Amino acid sequence: MEKSLDTALVWFRRDLRSQDHAALYHALRSARQVWCAFVFDTDILDPLPRADRRVEFIRDSLVDLDAQLRDLARSHGREDGGLIVRHGRASEEIVALARQLQVQAVYANHDYEPAARERDARVRGALAEAGIAWHSSKDQVVFEADELLTAAGTPYGVFTPYKTAWLKKLRPEDLYAYPVARHADALAPRPEALRTGVPELAALGFASSGLHDLPIPTGSCGARRLLEDFLGRIDHYHENRDFPAIKGPSYLSVHLRFGTVSIRELVRLAWQRAQAGSRGAEVWLSELIWRDFYHQILYHHPHVVDRAFRPEYDRIRWEQGKAAQALFRAWCEGRTGYPLVDAAMAQLNQTGYMHNRLRMVTASFLVKDLGIDWRWGERYFAEKLNDFDLAANNGGWQWATSTGCDAQPWFRIFNPVTQSEKFDAAGRFIRRYLPQLARLPDALVHAPWKARPVDLAAAGITLGTTYPAPLVQHEQARQRTLARYAVVKEVGRSKP
Ligand code: FAD
Repeated sequence: MEKSLDTALVWFRRDLRSQDHAALYHALRSARQVWCAFVFDTDILDPLPRADRRVEFIRDSLVDLDAQLRDLARSHGREDGGLIVRHGRASEEIVALARQLQVQAVYANHDYEPAARERDARVRGALAEAGIAWHSSKDQVVFEADELLTAAGTPYGVFTPYKTAWLKKLRPEDLYAYPVARHADALAPRPEALRTGVPELAALGFASSGLHDLPIPTGSCGARRLLEDFLGRIDHYHENRDFPAIKGPSYLSVHLRFGTVSIRELVRLAWQRAQAGSRGAEVWLSELIWRDFYHQILYHHPHVVDRAFRPEYDRIRWEQGKAAQALFRAWCEGRTGYPLVDAAMAQLNQTGYMHNRLRMVTASFLVKDLGIDWRWGERYFAEKLNDFDLAANNGGWQWATSTGCDAQPWFRIFNPVTQSEKFDAAGRFIRRYLPQLARLPDALVHAPWKARPVDLAAAGITLGTTYPAPLVQHEQARQRTLARYAVVKEVGRSKP
């Protein structure tokens, strides 16, 4: 095929892989010489704490991406072809690099977050001034933006009809992998001055986050390992996914977040298995559709970043002041006195991961037991989660708080003890993260305050010293929450 361009630059962002990569494929097909770049964006990095697992994950994954690109180039007899890595304001660095390399076009994949869209608009404008074209492609989701609308032409706000329409629209060609390798002969050697390699963490101003002490494999090869492991378990996903002590889910979220795995590949695998009758694959596919769903919610309703999806919920008055701050700190540090909540927060703080069931339980506890503004919890998750994704995190928090689209009803309030008895019946998860409760019998591990003094003594526990007494009584908290949410009911009533 005749190529229309001499030179192009591919800007990698949250798509750190070389296989099945839309922007890379389009650039390689269109240009004779293609360079690949990543920018450690100081606009994103500067506000982060100086040890952050995500930065380390990205760094490792870039080393892997660089090796993949070189291998691809080498397989076509090309020398080098590796990744150019910069550190600075991405919106400026990428334009400067495009000028320096004198490319005719920059290729990237769509990013749907409001701040990223603004950044891309700025880059596009600056490139246009320099006479350089900007091409961006869908890559991160299966259906984006306006691709899936209701019959009335409006975005979906409820998941089930969205999922039905999503499945109806899906065609095998939506999931074809972009055959990058076929066109990799266009990968160009980097000018000598740009062969700087991937900087060490220290050069970026970061210290080690302890990521390597955790079982979190990085890069596309790490994603592949997790995927292979999960495919051996996928048929049981629906039975195991709700029990945090069991290896039920895929643990692929951080890879989906940074694009070290392709969403098309995962959906293809899940879809095929589901069609072959796997209930587990069918339920897992639904989770991947939730991911698309929340992305389109964020795209169409960017106000959700700071406000409730449903405006009447912004009338709710959350606890404020020093007492609220103290409750919030106790929640963050896993000192609520409710073992499942505390064990979940310990999992988050120690590993950067939290099981989905526990994200729902801890979010509900913060908002509906402690009366704290959901945005405080959302921010804390954003700081701690390895897989932090604005669309999914915001969607999850607004679901738990009942402020979101298709959220659970506001009067449905998780009981943290019942949840614990149901989903961690033998207390295996609790004991893993709260070893101080290890010797309590199963029946008492969910609510130690119900234990007799003799049982506590036998387990070596002094409530208030070795383990906290409960911060609130759930039943009283529930009544306060019902009263707090009554403002929503009143608005609902006054509607015509
Ligand atoms: P699996 O069960 O194997 O699911 C596969 C993939 O499907 C996930 O990796 C994820 O990409 C997607 N997925 C699953 N559940 C959801 C969901 N409810 N919404 C959107 N996508 C989903 N997920 C994030 O990726 N980033 C977040 O920041 C995030 N914050 C959350 C906050 C709250 C309060 C809640 C309730 C949920 C949040 N989730 C978030 C969704 C979900 O908890 C995680 O995606 C899941 O636990 C990740 O583990 P996994 O990869 O093993 O999931």
